[in-house]
Amino acid sequence: MTPEEFRTAGHQLVDWIADYVTGLADEPARYPVRSPLAPGEVRAMLPAHPPSAPEAWSVVFADLERVVVPGLTHWQHPSFFAYFPCNSSFPSILGELASAGLGVNGMLWATSPAATEIETAMLDWMRELLGLPERFSSSGDGGGVIEGTASEATLCAVRAARHRATAAGAPLERLVAYATSQTHSSIEKGLRIAGIPVDRLRLVDVDGTYAMRPEALAAAMAADRAAGLVPFVVVASRGTTSSMAFDPTPAIAEVCRAEGAWLHVDAAMAGIAALCPELRWVNDGLELADSYCTNPHKWMGVSFDCDLFWVADRGALLAALSILPEYLRTAAAEAGQVIDYRDWQIPLGRRFRALKLWWTIRLEGLESFQAMIRRHLAVTTELVSWVEADERFELAAAPSLNLVCVRLRGGDAATDALIEAANATGEALFTRTVLDGRSVLRFCIGGRITGRAHVEAAWALLQRCVGP
Ligand code: PLP
Repeated sequence: MTPEEFRTAGHQLVDWIADYVTGLADEPARYPVRSPLAPGEVRAMLPAHPPSAPEAWSVVFADLERVVVPGLTHWQHPSFFAYFPCNSSFPSILGELASAGLGVNGMLWATSPAATEIETAMLDWMRELLGLPERFSSSGDGGGVIEGTASEATLCAVRAARHRATAAGAPLERLVAYATSQTHSSIEKGLRIAGIPVDRLRLVDVDGTYAMRPEALAAAMAADRAAGLVPFVVVASRGTTSSMAFDPTPAIAEVCRAEGAWLHVDAAMAGIAALCPELRWVNDGLELADSYCTNPHKWMGVSFDCDLFWVADRGALLAALSILPEYLRTAAAEAGQVIDYRDWQIPLGRRFRALKLWWTIRLEGLESFQAMIRRHLAVTTELVSWVEADERFELAAAPSLNLVCVRLRGGDAATDALIEAANATGEALFTRTVLDGRSVLRFCIGGRITGRAHVEAAWALLQRCVGP
């Protein structure tokens, strides 16, 4: 492809993206939220063998509509209420494009000072915008980094915690981790990767809101100590995936401090709500946390992947992850003048992700994020009142932030059938979870273009799918 061909194709693609995104907003019924294709149908549209000669852009471009779009679940659809959202705003798309266009690998400060220094500034800006404690500031012992996902952040936290514990003399085979049955599965995966077998993950009891009981945590730690084991990390969730429960971080932090255990706080979805000053409570208790993560790719319109991970003491993280082969040595790093973010993550290479965050903050602006979050919360409150007024449904957990967990009084089979029937229409998408052994429909209101009318229509769809 020549630069001129790139220019033409690029303009065409940008136009196509703008049409796709506005199409989702203006004519959502054109797109089934969930892809209607069966397994193998996309693959069947692809030739069995790669082309032996270059193809024309026009042919490749046409396959976007022909092959890709039918095989999409439209995450940017206003009636996407499944999982947690992954929102992608126009400034963020431009940031991604610019990042690919620049084509830098920001593994070291020296491999692109702009990639490193803009990232450091963005983590400090976000710390300020979210009202996070000073201890995570890059000007002290702490600091932040952009990871791909919250799972990567959790893995890094576990590795740092493991290092701190073993450096203090604890044998690896005695380390024990703590979370709850509601903690995201990434903690178990992170522990596995970090060499901590799952039988040394304690699932601490939860209360009626599915939040960790700090006294149960203290008791579990005491029992492990008595058995000669060493509590080394606790993962507290602020906004669990199944029901948006909030583990009481301040009390958990006190227990961790008494035991010398690392506290990682996972606020993948909910943490971004702190952009609204009245919602800063979502991050309560971080003053004593060792690390924290939240995802602008979920609720802030920064396209996937963008997880922000902060640590209070970067020394433990760097000691756990830093390796310095000769070919990566630089004078600036050895003089301690710069950050090399390769030491803050699992891979060596890294994309220039800070651009999309920087541009989203500058071009969308704080007030637009706040307006979106407040709109979602207001509609959630309305949805709860509609659920409460329909005697066929019941709330399966106390509604929390922008997540409503509902089920049918008719039982699990009826709830499961409802989820499948509603999703099969393509008009909206929900996900299923299980709370207290019973099936639950999660209705999460977090789409960038989702408004009251979409939620109202989705609720009418659920009522229709239940039948009279
Ligand atoms: N933590 C929580 C609470 C989540 O809800 C999720 C995903 O939804 C994750 C972690 C993992 O997120 P990621 O895809 O960024 O790894």
